[in-house]
Amino acid sequence: MSPYSHILLATDFSEETDAVVERAQAMAHANQCLLSLIHVIEPISIAYGGEFPFDLSDLHKEVEKQGNTRLNELAEKLDIPKERCYLEIGLTEKEILRTASENSADLIVVGSHSKHGLSLLLGSTANAILHHAECDVLAVRVRKPK
Ligand code: AMP
Repeated sequence: MSPYSHILLATDFSEETDAVVERAQAMAHANQCLLSLIHVIEPISIAYGGEFPFDLSDLHKEVEKQGNTRLNELAEKLDIPKERCYLEIGLTEKEILRTASENSADLIVVGSHSKHGLSLLLGSTANAILHHAECDVLAVRVRKPK
């Protein structure tokens, strides 16, 4: 019996995404199981802290639209139906953990780090997920392009 029935792939669409996507796809194939996608948008007030004295709703709408487009493109490439694509707004690790739990994912696949990580260190998202997930977590080692 396959150990996994539902894999949740967390993507930030960074340059390192391809390696993480490939590994998640291979795991889903090997386990003959469901593959879902999640991308989280952090509101500017969460990402940078504090309140802003001007209206950010247009910017939020544009970021959401772009996130949606990129998520749909990746889903199409991986042949993942829309109902298994989650575009969530909030704190990244919290939304990934909540979505995994609510949809009974038994493996979360993340990159070991993304844009701001050093190659030997775990990024903050990967680290938080490894510490708090109720299911298995695969942190795919991503390396900085040479
Ligand atoms: P980080 O810890 O932020 O360097 O990112 C490590 C990994 O966490 C990335 O390779 C993604 O798999 C995942 N991740 C980071 N940010 C997001 C996001 N906004 N939405 C979904 N997954 C993310």
